[in-house]
Amino acid sequence: MSSTAPGPIDVIVVGAGAAGAAAAGHLARRGRSVLVLDQGVFPRDKPCGGGMAASVQRWFPFDLSPVVEAVIERVRFTWDLADPVVAELPGASPFWIVRRSRLDAFLIEQAQAAGALFEPGMRVERVVPAGDHWCVQLAATQPDQPAPQWRARAVLLADGSGSRHAAPLGLGPRQPRFATTVSVELEGAVADASTAHFGFGLVPQGFCWAFPRQGGTSIGLGSFIGRPMDGLKARQDADAVLARLLPSLGFAADAGSRRVGRLRVWDGHHRLHGNGVLVAGDAASLCDPFLAEGLRPALLSGCRAAEALDRWLDGDAQALAGYTSTMRQEWGDSMAWGRRIAQVFYRVPRVGYQLGIKRPTAPRRIAQILSGEMGYGDIAQRVIRRLLFQRG
Ligand SMILES: Cc1cc2nc3c(=O)[nH]c(=O)nc-3n(C[C@H](O)[C@H](O)[C@H](O)COP(=O)(O)OP(=O)(O)OC[C@H]3O[C@@H](n4cnc5c(N)ncnc54)[C@H](O)[C@@H]3O)c2cc1C
Repeated sequence: MSSTAPGPIDVIVVGAGAAGAAAAGHLARRGRSVLVLDQGVFPRDKPCGGGMAASVQRWFPFDLSPVVEAVIERVRFTWDLADPVVAELPGASPFWIVRRSRLDAFLIEQAQAAGALFEPGMRVERVVPAGDHWCVQLAATQPDQPAPQWRARAVLLADGSGSRHAAPLGLGPRQPRFATTVSVELEGAVADASTAHFGFGLVPQGFCWAFPRQGGTSIGLGSFIGRPMDGLKARQDADAVLARLLPSLGFAADAGSRRVGRLRVWDGHHRLHGNGVLVAGDAASLCDPFLAEGLRPALLSGCRAAEALDRWLDGDAQALAGYTSTMRQEWGDSMAWGRRIAQVFYRVPRVGYQLGIKRPTAPRRIAQILSGEMGYGDIAQRVIRRLLFQRG
């Protein structure tokens, strides 16, 4: 390991997940020198359903299909494993399932091919301003040795839901809000490789999902409002839900190992920029607080952050503030409505299911939301009025 990369670095990206890898590629393709540091060893596993609107393809100059494991043609909703609603997704705007170990490795390989340097297995401990540069430090490996560090003109924080660097730099919410998640990866045959399942009525203040992928199924549970649960309670509650859910999908009640996690969700408009520093993806608390969609905003913010940093490095002093405004306009305004829908829906989920999901027009609307064709703002006022006044 070298403690300094050759030549001056324009941008250090902390985290090579969806947001960081997307940003690194865009910066490198613009001719910027980029160093990406990630604590993981790639390809690394990452608990995630991997459901993603195919519309994200428009943000990349290369084909993403090599990492698409399933193309979802229909979505099946249930209430307490019964009362199903099936929505056909229009062919023009499909919903993809990816495996994160493959997607993230593919994006970082594309970034490397464009010239970005990638150093896996590097845990960033400190990100501090140093005059007109930023200094990014790892932990010291030996007590008597200085900590390895790099200097760069700018830093992009893309270190995910557990980010320890964003809040101290005044980026994103001071106290992030978390959803509690449990994920289970099941290998083996998939009953229907083109249907995604969303189950309501089993998980308090949330829902569960089952997404097909090559040679298996990804199951997840998410609880979105209220205080995040401690790990043991979440695990016990999840075991009880899974004991009912898994047999309904043709798996043994105790199949798979369960991983409890905390996912930062969107909770208000916040500043995502400082002087020479931006935050993207989960570290910026962009994940949808209603449906846990975090991949699309991670990729979008990675792309927009790269555009802003590129302009800022060219001398446009307003470019980084422009990133905060762009993310608000392209994502945050919709999430503000998504959060309100979540607050109403998850308090009265049975009513929400009957009046929100079982409506004749719902399948088309759901398809449009999942495909990214429509934002929550387009439907929110009607949905909230219907739920509050419980009118069909
Ligand atoms: C169970 C579950 C299911 C989900 N399902 C879906 C879904 O189906 N669809 C969807 O759109 N979203 C889903 N999400 C949300 C989605 O996974 C996240 O929103 C997405 O991963 C955000 O990408 P990111 O790049 O911001 O963060 P991450 O993918 O978490 O990447 C952050 C990276 O930073 C690295 N890192 C962290 N700290 C440091 C450090 N100090 N030094 C160096 N590196 C560091 C990590 O190793 C990691 O590689 C799900 C989340 C969970 C928990």
